[in-house]
Amino acid sequence: MSDPAPIRVARVAVPVPLDRLFDYLIPASEPTPAVGARVQVPFSGRRLIGICVALNPEDAHKQLKPLLRVIDQENFFGEHLWELANWLADYYQHPLGEVLATLLPGAARSVEKLPATTEEHWQLTGTDVDAETASLARAPKQQVLYQRLVALGGLASASLLRSEGYARTVLKALQAKGLVRRTAHHGKPPSLERPGERLELNSEQQHVLVELVSRLQQFAPTLLNGITGSGKTEIYLRLIEQVLGNGRQVLVLVPEIALTPQTVARFEQRFGSAAVIHSAMTDRARLQVWLRAARGELQILIGTRSAVLTPFADLGLIVVDEEHDASFKQQDGLRYSARDVAVKIAQQLKIPLLLGSATPSFESLHNAATGRYQQLRLTERAGGAAVPGFHLLDLRGRKLDSGLADDLLRVTGRHLKAGGQVLVFLNRRGFAPSLLCGQCNWRALCPGCDRPMTMHRSPAGLICHHCGRRDPLTESCPECGKVGLIPVGQGTQRAEAALRRHFPDLPVYRIDRDTVRSRARLEAQLEAIHEGHPAILIGTQMLAKGHHFPNVTLVAVVNADSGFLSPDFRAPERTAQLIIQVAGRAGRAERRGEVYIQTYQPDNPLLKALLEQGYEGFAARELEARQAQELPPFRPIALLRSESSNASVANQWLNQARALLPDSLEVYGPAPAIIERIADRWRFQLLIVARNRQILHAGVRNLKKLPPLPANVRFAIDIDPYDTF
Ligand code: ADP
Ligand code: ZN
Ligand code: ZN
Repeated sequence: MSDPAPIRVARVAVPVPLDRLFDYLIPASEPTPAVGARVQVPFSGRRLIGICVALNPEDAHKQLKPLLRVIDQENFFGEHLWELANWLADYYQHPLGEVLATLLPGAARSVEKLPATTEEHWQLTGTDVDAETASLARAPKQQVLYQRLVALGGLASASLLRSEGYARTVLKALQAKGLVRRTAHHGKPPSLERPGERLELNSEQQHVLVELVSRLQQFAPTLLNGITGSGKTEIYLRLIEQVLGNGRQVLVLVPEIALTPQTVARFEQRFGSAAVIHSAMTDRARLQVWLRAARGELQILIGTRSAVLTPFADLGLIVVDEEHDASFKQQDGLRYSARDVAVKIAQQLKIPLLLGSATPSFESLHNAATGRYQQLRLTERAGGAAVPGFHLLDLRGRKLDSGLADDLLRVTGRHLKAGGQVLVFLNRRGFAPSLLCGQCNWRALCPGCDRPMTMHRSPAGLICHHCGRRDPLTESCPECGKVGLIPVGQGTQRAEAALRRHFPDLPVYRIDRDTVRSRARLEAQLEAIHEGHPAILIGTQMLAKGHHFPNVTLVAVVNADSGFLSPDFRAPERTAQLIIQVAGRAGRAERRGEVYIQTYQPDNPLLKALLEQGYEGFAARELEARQAQELPPFRPIALLRSESSNASVANQWLNQARALLPDSLEVYGPAPAIIERIADRWRFQLLIVARNRQILHAGVRNLKKLPPLPANVRFAIDIDPYDTF
């Protein structure tokens, strides 16, 4: 009896919101699954696709149902992503089953065979470009396509060429002459001289690139701290070129809203093709990209937050653009930070990581200051554009129209007349943040949140921005019946209406969450803006992120004060980033830009520090305050959140959690959240602060001992929370 015990039991992570794993018998008809393989299992009357996480666990039950089918012979996730999944589960204190369910592309939750993924590409066969071009003198269509392929580095996807209008028959003609060949793989492009394709780097950029290239073969996290328009993207492109030249893959993470056709086009123009992954894609398309990355069939992947959870065959570089952006932090389920996960992956794979921003997060600045990241700077605008001039507009005692000062409207008129575009930034969507009755003081409040409902005009309604509740807009007061309620405060719709009144002949484009619900509409608007004719752009922070609007010469910040008044400890950092980012949209081309900032508190020390000392001076000052208060990034924190329709139950649950936490942690609460109730659920939170990460994690692991969660409570552990509301 020397044979090891036969493998009979698989422990399976099932995609259900339960913090536990399930054991199944492996029937004799099925092969032994690998750890990480997909298996089909019966689960309360349904058939689900789960992931085998262990074989023959010692504590398996005796009475088990058999699993239905073993789908994969190998670990579906691959070695690196599997390791990452386990790290995610431990770091973010999230059940492994749910982590795996998050990582598994939706379309892989079936027993169907995996689709083939090779995308058709076309490649030049020779390198004597001039002679071959000349040989096509009598076939102008073929010559044009040939030259386009040269400009794309000798390689392009069939879909890109199709989208650019090249006919397949022309490709076939070139193929018949032996000048191009079809490749299933997006292989290594042949090396071609491409003069005129790239910009001549300025000396700052040159220095940065040399530094980065010297550290391509190791774990090398770098903060590229470069002002808006300083040519960071150009650096990414050059570095990526090097990595692709070494035959390795590149992942580029961008903020949610920055994933526009313009961004992707810049990469495609340089490299012939770039794959894209984002949350709005179909499951099937996502799986395709996932598999192509895992099989080494794609070279560049550009994506938003979740793209960091893609497996790669041979990843050689990760770039995180606008690394300070809040959208990199997932706010529910597995609450990971894509930026922090990128650091982990780079470390695991021993590859470089490039974090770029004009307004780096305090975490990254701190990591640079303590030597964990190398910091490289770009202090000048590339291509000769000047840094915009700032003006403060003191609103006290001034006449305003819908929140816009008469001076601001005058300056707006001047810029439009001079042929420029004007960007008006107001971080509040809707028409007015509240609606009042002038007679009886009634106010439109959300019954589920006790917060003012925002009045919207198009489409008309009262909307609660916390829970999403929608009520019809009433003409008359529901309390006293008075007709004519008063909208109080400014939203983007109101400013839009005022701007249309003042400038009736020019287009006004509003960009906020209400108008960009449809991606097609956003893209159409961005395209119109890129044409560059005089126009007004009004919008929320969506306008601040990563756009390059060459013709914007004036940026107006309608209300700079609101953000600095928020109780969240990150509010000053976030507000400063927003102001600098939105200001950075001004004057990115030949014409110098101006920035006007309206404020009721021109002496606000935070605002003054930002304008007088710039973002870095501001950050240095605020970091001192964080250090004095022993807040992140000086000490790590975690936030436990609970929610219930019954306040005392939510509170009690956190007390139970608190009792499990060791004395090595500082614990504050439970206390009601700043917004105490959303959608009829009471919200409590418990803040945990620790001297260092080891202590934080060791302590928080004790929460595994919590009893099963009562049905009427929602509970989340948020490690390194971004919002502490
Ligand atoms: P960032 O990413 O830092 O905002 P970009 O890379 O988008 O900056 O560059 C801003 C603008 O300057 C772009 O229009 C870009 O084409 C241009 N640019 C970048 N580098 C150079 C350079 N070395 N010479 C001329 N123009 C440049
Ligand atoms: Zn009334
Ligand atoms: Zn509400």
